[in-house]
Amino acid sequence: MTLRNSLVWFRRDLRVDDHAALHHALLSSRHVFGVFVFDTDILAGLPPDDRRVQFLLDSVRELDARLRSLGGYLIVRHGRAAQVIPALAAELDAESVFANRDYEPQALARDRAVLETLRAAGRSLQTFKDQVIFERDEVLTLAGGPYSVFTPYKNAWLKRLAREPEALRPFETAPHAAALAPAPADHALPSLAALGFVPNAAPIARPGMSGAEHLLAQFEERLARYDHDRDYPALDATSRLSVHLRFGTLSVRRLVAMLQARIADGSGGAGAPVWLAELVWREFYMMILARHPRVVTQSFKQAFDAVAWDDGPDADALLAAWCAGRTGYPLVDAAMLQLERTGFMHNRLRMVTASFLTKDLGIDWRRGERWFALKLNDYELASNNGGWQWAASTGCDAQPWFRIFNPVTQSKRFDPDGDFIRQYLPQLARLSGAAIHAPWLARPGALAQAGVVLGMDYPRPIVDHDAAREKTLARFKAIRAA
Ligand code: FAD
Repeated sequence: MTLRNSLVWFRRDLRVDDHAALHHALLSSRHVFGVFVFDTDILAGLPPDDRRVQFLLDSVRELDARLRSLGGYLIVRHGRAAQVIPALAAELDAESVFANRDYEPQALARDRAVLETLRAAGRSLQTFKDQVIFERDEVLTLAGGPYSVFTPYKNAWLKRLAREPEALRPFETAPHAAALAPAPADHALPSLAALGFVPNAAPIARPGMSGAEHLLAQFEERLARYDHDRDYPALDATSRLSVHLRFGTLSVRRLVAMLQARIADGSGGAGAPVWLAELVWREFYMMILARHPRVVTQSFKQAFDAVAWDDGPDADALLAAWCAGRTGYPLVDAAMLQLERTGFMHNRLRMVTASFLTKDLGIDWRRGERWFALKLNDYELASNNGGWQWAASTGCDAQPWFRIFNPVTQSKRFDPDGDFIRQYLPQLARLSGAAIHAPWLARPGALAQAGVVLGMDYPRPIVDHDAAREKTLARFKAIRAA
């Protein structure tokens, strides 16, 4: 034991089990305090009923309760983390602050500022790998550089894991909990109102570690069918764990260990390796962001920064229609309404709506990315940026730029009976499975029978897909020719 007092700074790791920073602090300190900061630098600009803030507060409450059951507690502060953390370390006389690494450029800048202030006061900041199995420089090409295509990255990632099974060893905390500093008598947590927020009418279900446990237990039953079912938005086939992975209410090591066990005993079926690949996508995009922070504002493939996106007054109106779910393409609109009403959007639909914005409406991917960032419960810079650049063909994608999703074909393929569309567009509910994907092509009699007047109950398409496709091909060809 080398330290008297230390402070664990919880950020996107709101759990007590298998927690690298907490584990190391407990092993090296006599008294360990924990803190979470509602960072005003991050909260500023969010709508007052932002679901994520409520989810965070609920998860923080559960974290505090779990720490208290182990003999500790969680200090919760509201302010600029870059100032709050060094001030709190001084107040507690903590020699060191322990935190798990965050790879987003703004977080890295914040951590550098905290480190400098702590250092000037004779304290230290120790950071640990926790939110990924392998971080930015751990999976490299034979030449020692970063991968820019997913499949070879995934193969190298899997090989490294096979060589290094200890990468999944959990960081124990409970056996060392005696070092946790007990709560003072006046310990209290802030309310949502004290943070300047109000409850959302449709909050994120199942916050905290217990929420993650519940979703995981349910998903484990569906895992073996994931490879097939995951593409159908009307099915409850994916895990819905993204918001938990985002805020660290469960450990990714645990998920990968579970998958390995189920692949080994055969109970994971064909679904388990496919789900594992999704977790590797998450790390791939985190690696891309860490190695190429310019992707936050620029195309990964730099030549595509020259794409002439539509940015005239029409583009503003088209963007507004896309955001509001009024494009006239039912699958796109139902997806955008799912996002607005729940804060979630199915992966297939994220691809369809992002392709629609960039390839059908010709609008800059950064504008769609911003809308998703505002609305997604699981918003995560690396995956969102990666997903948008993939859809816009400006990113690290093995597919060529002329991949353009046809929104009607996607609808027929992945929502064949229109069940998903009906959930969000009840005005189309009485249209047949065949007509619901493209109501403007339905026979007038069929529309009348279903009680749909196009242009009144539901918009006509705001763009003609075939014409838009030609425009997009020309837009991208111009880059190639330049
Ligand atoms: P599951 O299918 O159960 O997958 C398990 C986990 O793997 C997910 O929770 C997620 O952590 C990870 N994952 C799955 N697919 C991907 C992927 N394509 N890229 C990276 N990680 C993946 N995911 C986010 O977590 N945050 C985002 O902000 C985000 N924005 C996206 C934007 C676009 C345009 C696209 C195409 C995809 C985006 N994704 C994002 C990836 C993916 O859509 C979501 O992770 C997934 O839909 C979440 O649902 P789930 O937890 O049920 O996923």
